[in-house]
Amino acid sequence: MGRLQKILIPFLGLVLAFWFYSARDTFKPEMLRGKRVIVTGASTGIGEQMAYHLARMGAHVLVTARTEARLQNVVRRCLQLGAASARFVSGTMEDTAFAQHVVREAQTSLGGLDMLILNHVGASYFGFFDGDVEHVRKLLEINFLSYVAMATAALPMLKESEGSIVVVSSMAGKVGFPFTVPYSATKFALDGFFSSLRQEFTIQSINVSITLCILGFIDTERAVRAAAEVLQERPAPRDECALEILKGAALRRRELYYRYSSTRLPLLLRDCAAELLDYLVRSRYRLPAPPGA
Ligand code: NAP
Repeated sequence: MGRLQKILIPFLGLVLAFWFYSARDTFKPEMLRGKRVIVTGASTGIGEQMAYHLARMGAHVLVTARTEARLQNVVRRCLQLGAASARFVSGTMEDTAFAQHVVREAQTSLGGLDMLILNHVGASYFGFFDGDVEHVRKLLEINFLSYVAMATAALPMLKESEGSIVVVSSMAGKVGFPFTVPYSATKFALDGFFSSLRQEFTIQSINVSITLCILGFIDTERAVRAAAEVLQERPAPRDECALEILKGAALRRRELYYRYSSTRLPLLLRDCAAELLDYLVRSRYRLPAPPGA
């Protein structure tokens, strides 16, 4: 026992030290200087913050969303912050032709692409599944199919630049969440598509990284409006979240968890104690009393 301890404890220490230091940041803002980046869903929220971080790092930024007036402001601010260039294309991701058009715009105006950040999200409801199949189909088009269309259209440019695809997903895309059934389905679909695509890239020696971002509750207007009263959890800051996504992308991580404590750690339970994880997820909500209680 004594000998085992003598070996085991230093060994565990070494493993922990290796994990700690290898997981430490080696990110430098210069990594993104001059890079040509598309950020979708950048008129508000996390996407807007990513555009500002990229601008400070001196990237070429192409932002997209539906609301032109907001995008104009984002572009103006990006230029003030030091972006190498900043432009926008407005339109809706309900239409895969628009998704492809944004990629062509990068080709025309930037001459190529280094990073495609897929971040936009269509509006959905927060509540029990209401049986509206048409809503699920529409949300799949916005949150999933347009991601597929953009990644497919951008692939030739990304292969040439040995660039990166960044897919912004959620804890709700890794484990079942109540009250966001259609949203959750679209996020699970992203994991299936992009994790499988990553495997094929490896087999074909395609040097394009895919970073899947698993986010917890973040303090964007939309999320706070929808869930702050129901979730017993403080949302994390969106500007920090945006920076962590960019770091993970620049370091070509396969998955990025933010915040780690509310995403990666609970997910460790998924394979060994799935029901406990389900319970922990439910316990985050202030649930209404069951009828008749
Ligand atoms: P947000 O503030 O609501 O921003 C969503 C963006 O998507 C906006 O720029 C919006 O702009 C755009 N958008 C909405 N519908 C669109 C459409 N049909 N076509 C094109 N663009 C559209 O969202 P967020 O909270 O920053 O979330 C960003 C990402 O993080 C999403 O993928 C979300 O699932 C993920 N996430 C967020 C949280 C959170 O708690 N906030 C948690 C987990 C994961 P327009 O309205 O101008 O089009």
